[in-house]
Amino acid sequence: MKILVLNCGSSSLKYQLMNMQDESVLAKGLVERIGIAGSRIKHVRTGLDAVVRDTDIPNHKVAIKLVLEALLDPNHGALRDLSELSAAGHRVVHGGELFTTSVRIDADVIKGIEEVIHLAPLHNPANLQGIRAMMDALPDLPSVAVFDTAFHQTMPPRAFVYGIPYHYYEKDRVRRYGFHGTSHFYVAHRAAEILGRPVGELKIVTCHLGNGSSVTAVNGGKCVDTSMGLGTAEGVLMGTRSGNVDPSVMLFLMEQENDPKVVSHIVHKESGLQGISGFSSDLRDIEEEAEKGNERAQLAFDMLCYGIRKYIGSYAAAMGGLDAVVFTAGIGENSSLLREKVSEGLGFLGAHFDPSRNQVRGKEAEISAPGSKVKILVVPTNEELVIARDTRDLVGKR
Ligand code: ADP
Repeated sequence: MKILVLNCGSSSLKYQLMNMQDESVLAKGLVERIGIAGSRIKHVRTGLDAVVRDTDIPNHKVAIKLVLEALLDPNHGALRDLSELSAAGHRVVHGGELFTTSVRIDADVIKGIEEVIHLAPLHNPANLQGIRAMMDALPDLPSVAVFDTAFHQTMPPRAFVYGIPYHYYEKDRVRRYGFHGTSHFYVAHRAAEILGRPVGELKIVTCHLGNGSSVTAVNGGKCVDTSMGLGTAEGVLMGTRSGNVDPSVMLFLMEQENDPKVVSHIVHKESGLQGISGFSSDLRDIEEEAEKGNERAQLAFDMLCYGIRKYIGSYAAAMGGLDAVVFTAGIGENSSLLREKVSEGLGFLGAHFDPSRNQVRGKEAEISAPGSKVKILVVPTNEELVIARDTRDLVGKR
């Protein structure tokens, strides 16, 4: 069974063709600058060099056509015929309260994704464009939507309702939703496998740390709290997003700028590591400059580590215990310095960090000391695999 996993943004499209017999990746690629000058497709068949094609790609329909062409190419493709494809799995950013699990896509599902566009005005329309383009190209191919928010739908109201008048929740559905759900789900379950214990009996804090970051409390395999909220700027400091700020700060910015769009840009694009350091949103640059004595870079780094550590402590308290802390995504998988600085204050919780096990990059590892009551793990995320598995399960074997 072969499944095409698609992640469509407004101007980009990532894809991965998976063979579900052994869950291997047959080919993957990226279409960039859709609708913008300089568009191109980069395609890699597993084991071969990347092939890049610069060509006009005005919309998602053309992007999908190029992806299918690349997959069928006799030299660097991975399919002889499109009939070998069993299904497409789409990443969809926001499912609101409508979608608590992955679903097979039909007209009602498309309507549902449209209904929550106001909650993700940049992402859901792009996801829908990808879904429609794929359905136009291959109308008989079953497709599945896997939502970034779905895993977090098990949070209890005390964790997801904000302390503002309740009618904003009742009428406008203003609440905590959380994001990166597919990643938190994957690494929590994988951590349980690595530890050889049923996920149902574990209290885990998963730290998905990339350009966007969120921390999640997973109790018994289910999300009970997460740091991102209605939108993607709440929680820990991020590349260009602010993380938690006092509502008074938002009011101050509104008074200063007098334009919600400008304030939104400040909070989403000019804050975080970028805003504090004044020169970069990339943690590699921040670490490098901090090492050379740049105080603002050091402050940005310290704020990030401190914020993550506070979430780990508060989620341990929220769950009434802690069995494992998991680091994942670009920063979590690669920055040994950040893992060290976050973990070194956690001994009081029974999480004893071992620096000698921490020099790992992008692979599964335990970085807690032998005998540590709480395990500290690095688990590379694999959202595509979750999407492919859910798609397989929902369309059945063919
Ligand atoms: P996205 O949220 O866009 O998917 P990623 O998960 O790819 O982002 O993470 C990007 C972040 O990972 C960047 O801040 C980058 O600096 C960081 N990162 C990648 N490699 C390293 C490294 N070796 N050391 C420190 N940070 C790293």
